[in-house]
Amino acid sequence: MTRPPAEPHYDVAIVGAGIVGLAHALAAARIGKRVVVIDRDAQSNGASIRNFGFVTVTGQQQGECWKRAMRSRDIWVEVAEKAGIPIEHAGLCVAARRPEAARVLEAFMATEMGGECRLMSPAQAKTRVPALRQEALTAALWSPHERRIESRTAIPRLAGWLEQALGITFLRSTLVTAVEPPRVVTTIGAIAADTAIVCPGHDFLALFPERIAAYGLTTCKLHMLRVAPGDAGFRLGAAVMSDLGLVRYLGYAELPGASALRARLEAEQAAALDNGVHLIAVQSADGSLVVGDSHHYGETLDPFAPHHVDELILDELDAVLDLPGRAVRERWIGIYASAHDRLMLIDRPSDTVRIVIVTSGTGASTAFAIGEEVIAELFGSQQ
Ligand SMILES: Cc1cc2nc3c(=O)[nH]c(=O)nc-3n(C[C@H](O)[C@H](O)[C@H](O)COP(=O)(O)OP(=O)(O)OC[C@H]3O[C@@H](n4cnc5c(N)ncnc54)[C@H](O)[C@@H]3O)c2cc1C
Repeated sequence: MTRPPAEPHYDVAIVGAGIVGLAHALAAARIGKRVVVIDRDAQSNGASIRNFGFVTVTGQQQGECWKRAMRSRDIWVEVAEKAGIPIEHAGLCVAARRPEAARVLEAFMATEMGGECRLMSPAQAKTRVPALRQEALTAALWSPHERRIESRTAIPRLAGWLEQALGITFLRSTLVTAVEPPRVVTTIGAIAADTAIVCPGHDFLALFPERIAAYGLTTCKLHMLRVAPGDAGFRLGAAVMSDLGLVRYLGYAELPGASALRARLEAEQAAALDNGVHLIAVQSADGSLVVGDSHHYGETLDPFAPHHVDELILDELDAVLDLPGRAVRERWIGIYASAHDRLMLIDRPSDTVRIVIVTSGTGASTAFAIGEEVIAELFGSQQ
């Protein structure tokens, strides 16, 4: 079991070593705070290592979320280099299969978010992503903003760098049972900390259950697949999304034209919509693709991953990409916190405590900016 250091006294205690907790730890350490990060798990095991590692800007909701994604992307690029985290690939190709989807992409290009993006013909898109089924597409959008990191190795590496380069203390296998600055109560004893930031992911009960309950949160289960392409030398070229993503990601789904696309998808891909299926495909260093996902909501989600949901995801993959001989090599589920009315929340139980929960599938893309904002609000005048 991890032991706290001999004279533990911290400026900031952070509960949760997922990307949200790590982002706050980074921001606090950068202004000179002594930081401890406490997590119940022996190693990273939450949403932050189960995701695509897809740091997404284009498609995030216009306004605050999009700006946070831009800022977080910049921090990812900077920190990845320092921490020795490879960027697996850059950019996003949204492949429009239907004319209605192309209309949504045109509407996107008319927004300020479209500034550095490009609308492309299917043939032009194929120069970026050679495996695209050109004949199945009507248009495509190219976004240069995105980055892809391999979350299952990147998150531990990020934590290791925070520990070694920035002097942050990590206490693992340690449950926090009460947060009462100037102390935080844990299963290995009390830890002295003047402020605390609770980043519990989808654990709504261990700490401040009444305050978290007031937000009416639920949880969302996602199916994920690792697919080996038949060709060992295969390169994807960029992250790939398709029509189904345009009615799910708010940066597109709130645009004119999205309702016409949704109506057509309801007629043609109702099962995919019913299971919250859309396509994201990204590539890892070994050539395999991480492909997903689906969305099922509930208070306590079952651990089962029915085959038919995976088939819906693979159907969309095959409709967009030509991957002869592809084979599924691994399957897993992930769970994240979800809210019907917000993408994230910052709750203030007292002057010295914050609860921060990303309540949408955007934490890998926005947490660094959220961490900066929360730390600036807590310590603004002391920086
Ligand atoms: C399958 C999947 C795909 C996704 N894809 C993307 C994507 O492509 N792009 C994107 O931006 N986002 C994506 N997301 C969302 C993103 O992964 C989450 O928003 C983000 O990881 C949430 O981070 P977190 O730190 O809040 O949660 P977590 O990573 O779950 O970490 C929370 C941590 O808190 C700890 N904890 C909780 N309570 C206590 C306690 N009382 N004491 C001690 N420890 C405690 C837990 O042990 C856990 O380690 C995806 C999510 C999933 C599941």
